[in-house]
Amino acid sequence: MKELSRKTDTFTDSVIRRMTRISNQYGAINLSQGFPDFDPPTEITDKLAELAKVGPHQYATTWGSKSIRDALARKQEHFSGMQVDPEKEIVVTCGGTEAMMAAMLTVCNPGDKVVVFSPFYENYGADAILSGAEPIYVPLIPPTFRFDADVLEAAFRQEGVKALILCNPSNPCGKVFTREELKIIADLAIKYDIYVITDEVYEHILYKPNEHVYMATLPGMRERTIICSSLSKTYSITGWRIGYVIAPENIAERVKKVHDFLTIGAAAPLMEAVTVGLLFPDSYYEELQNHYTHMRELFCGGLKNLGFSFVEPQGAYYVLVDVSEYGYQKDYDFCVDLAKKVGVGAVPGSSFFKEEENRYVRFHFAKKDETLLGALDRLADIQKLK
Ligand code: GLN
Repeated sequence: MKELSRKTDTFTDSVIRRMTRISNQYGAINLSQGFPDFDPPTEITDKLAELAKVGPHQYATTWGSKSIRDALARKQEHFSGMQVDPEKEIVVTCGGTEAMMAAMLTVCNPGDKVVVFSPFYENYGADAILSGAEPIYVPLIPPTFRFDADVLEAAFRQEGVKALILCNPSNPCGKVFTREELKIIADLAIKYDIYVITDEVYEHILYKPNEHVYMATLPGMRERTIICSSLSKTYSITGWRIGYVIAPENIAERVKKVHDFLTIGAAAPLMEAVTVGLLFPDSYYEELQNHYTHMRELFCGGLKNLGFSFVEPQGAYYVLVDVSEYGYQKDYDFCVDLAKKVGVGAVPGSSFFKEEENRYVRFHFAKKDETLLGALDRLADIQKLK
């Protein structure tokens, strides 16, 4: 038989999703793959029930129904101050995952390089490779996960660098980039003519006093920023697979073509139903923040009481915990034992780092109180892994 494509040779299946399978296998409380175990807002699910009877049940406009694009443009303007043309500058995708892939396929030619901060969300490496590009990595230095501007500049100076992927707020390390940090990145992107592809799916999940600054709003960045985001986290609907790209018309035109041939479009009734959420008042986002702040306090406070060492996340809903004291060579083995013997699912930190790093595991805390308390209760027994 002839050889299959080499495109998938250099990456594994998703370790995040593999850990969910391992957690289920051992009946562990799954704090690996990040998704809520609480319900989406009833206004959204009620609307979906209503639409089940009346539709739409057929294809919507491939780049998203008019109602969702109008609502997205309005919401983006409300939170960022950007003017967005809903006809020309928005493409609704099947989740943030497709948004990133479509952005990468739009920007990259084979042989191009893409700069990725490490630790990074595991999709980016695969996205780069599938779009023919080579990922190159700039470290975010633990424990504060700051970056060295000279190292970033040296990366941008390399031949063939086309884009930077910026996850803000960051999965997995919980970093929220400050306006000053974004300005450093923006100035370098302009100087070296680099596109910035953002992953802003946690834009509404951050902890005071941190604030989300949209890279596209910095001077000179609108034209070179491709915003990728999602409604999964903001409205607790990770299974609905609704994301979007916002980019200037000349770029969005290309994204539309890629998206059309990848998936045709996101699910029509789901786009209509979630539009109700996009029109929620500010109080919804304040409550969401309060709820996540509560979950962070509960879980991270509990970890602290148990003596774990970690950096408090500024945004998103993950925490990287240092487990080096347990003496495992491989954090993956640690996570399998954690699921099997302690009964809690986590993601090995090494799946997020380019550097050889086995110190961390990632827990997420988008869970009900009882789930988090149950996990903390089990983690009290972690000494048995020593
Ligand atoms: N973004 C979530 C995480 O990092 C979910 C990943 C996924 O399965 N798409 O865990």
